[in-house]
Amino acid sequence: MGVPGDWHSIWQQQRNLRRLREVGPFDARKTAARVWVQVLRPYWRALLAGTLLVAVGVIIGLIPPLLLRRLINHAIPTRNLHEVLGLSLGMFLVPVAGALIGVGQNYLNARVAQAVIFDLRNQLYAHGQALGIDFFTRTRGGEIQSRLVNDAGSLQNVLSQSLIGSLSNLFTVAFTLAAMLVLNWRLALVSAVALPSFALPVLYFGRQRYAAVERTQEALSRLMVVLEETLTLSGVVVVKAFGTQVRERHRFEGVNAEVRAAQVAQALIGQWMLFAVRALSSLGPALLYAVGGWLVIRHRLSLGTVVAFAAYLAQLYAPASNLAGIQTTVLGSLALFDRIFAFLDIPPHPPVVTAGRPLGRIEAGRPAIAFRRVTFSYQPGHPVLRGVDFEVPAGALVALVGPSGAGKSTVLHLMARFYDPDEGAVLINGVDLKEADDQSLRRTAGLVTQDVFLFHATLRENIVYGNPDADRAAVERAVTAASLDEVVARLPQGLDTLVGERGYRLSGGEKQRVAIARAILADPQILLLDEATSSLDSRAERAIQEALERLFRQRTVVAIAHRLSTILAADQILVLDRGRIVERGTHAELLARGGLYRALYQEQFLRRGRKPETVGLGTEGGP
Ligand code: ATP
Repeated sequence: MGVPGDWHSIWQQQRNLRRLREVGPFDARKTAARVWVQVLRPYWRALLAGTLLVAVGVIIGLIPPLLLRRLINHAIPTRNLHEVLGLSLGMFLVPVAGALIGVGQNYLNARVAQAVIFDLRNQLYAHGQALGIDFFTRTRGGEIQSRLVNDAGSLQNVLSQSLIGSLSNLFTVAFTLAAMLVLNWRLALVSAVALPSFALPVLYFGRQRYAAVERTQEALSRLMVVLEETLTLSGVVVVKAFGTQVRERHRFEGVNAEVRAAQVAQALIGQWMLFAVRALSSLGPALLYAVGGWLVIRHRLSLGTVVAFAAYLAQLYAPASNLAGIQTTVLGSLALFDRIFAFLDIPPHPPVVTAGRPLGRIEAGRPAIAFRRVTFSYQPGHPVLRGVDFEVPAGALVALVGPSGAGKSTVLHLMARFYDPDEGAVLINGVDLKEADDQSLRRTAGLVTQDVFLFHATLRENIVYGNPDADRAAVERAVTAASLDEVVARLPQGLDTLVGERGYRLSGGEKQRVAIARAILADPQILLLDEATSSLDSRAERAIQEALERLFRQRTVVAIAHRLSTILAADQILVLDRGRIVERGTHAELLARGGLYRALYQEQFLRRGRKPETVGLGTEGGP
């Protein structure tokens, strides 16, 4: 006798239970309706065909026991060799036909499941892209990836196991019971009584096992944390620097011991479960043979029918135990969909404007950018910018300075419309960004951030990222303009060297120049620059300075300035402090005022600048 209660379904139920706990209470009916309308309905034809095939497959599965019955009751007693051969052939051919139908059914199943996953994965990706920066600052790295890869991947199981699986189990149990009733209702009742004996141990031990698996998972994830903290590059550096290897090894061994204990417990529960399933599932056939045997002796039943019944009963094991957990299976599957829908329901902030007003060409003599009494907060009640009001004339270079946390980056983020202001408006070329066409905004304003992200691709691909149509000559001009010639000459394959993650490592200053080359090639009318704070040696500094000068040419620039050269070149300096503009003017004017700017200048820029005397320290002492 084989082992009833199919192991896979037990895993499945454990996963489903876990999912249910993760999602918490949700409206299963609403989710089910949504799954149908949003996910499955487009595939209703394939689903219907799949359902029909399942039914046909189940019905075919009912035939062999009937052939067996005929063989025992008729063909053998009447010594009809032809019939014996015919029935034996049938017992070979019918399952073959059933298996063929199974192939068709699984093919359809996989097609639909993969089509659904394909659709959802695309939807999830597009939605992830549409989500605002705020979402990414709030969400743990890897969370979205997990949604996309794991959740969408688990759907494969949900769709094939839960949906088609439950359907097939339901059909099998219903049709088999019906066939048994037709054959002999008394025996059918006896078998029906035996049915729960397959299901109960699966349910009971399934739960126990679930708890044990949970403990193992917890211990394993703690093990992963230790690994991540201490056996990755950044972690290893700290461990080695503080000489804490032994302490960390003990921590690892402790958690490792927990994993061992949890896994032994899990294995033990598994064995008891196997025992219970085996013991209880022998009960059904035993009962059947007792009652059946008695009926045969009393000539109220043929031997063939009893044997056919035994065959049917064997077919019922797995489906019946699976059906015992059908509620968890279905709810668990819906819970997964609920998680996916919850992600798709997050509204993008700020909403992406796809057919808005184009920003047009910025012309001299007009403000390129305007902040109109802008108030903004990341968290309600904690304004980070308050009544910020200024204009950036076309072609001007405006430098933002201020103490750390003053709101400088926030000003740039609002210009790039990563966020919308709570009050007031941000305008580019006279168009409120809330109405501006998103693509037009991205072409008009380019952002160069402090830490430059390089894709795992060639240097050339990284440089042309914002302008993939750029020809070789344009790329080379940008490389030269960004003072990168020397770097390119040094790389093993020049511009075609792989850089970025797992690629060739560029230094901080070199990466900054790659960002500058990118910006030069993308050629935005407005440049939003967050200058890197990393201090470089004077040669590298000069290279960047020259590159920046070329980048600034004929552009409107707003820069969070960390370089002396940038603030000296600025047409206007805005001094931010705790979300307000507290001073504005040119370097000389602000220095003369002797306020916050002067203090910052002495503290930040003089330290960085190489020749302080050339920038007018004569005003020291102030007015
Ligand atoms: P720094 O020179 O140190 O980069 P900054 O002037 O650019 O500072 P911002 O980055 O604009 O300052 O930050 C202004 C304030 O907003 C800070 O108090 C910061 O803690 C807060 N802040 C920034 N980003 C967020 C965010 N995503 N969520 C909540 N608060 C934020």
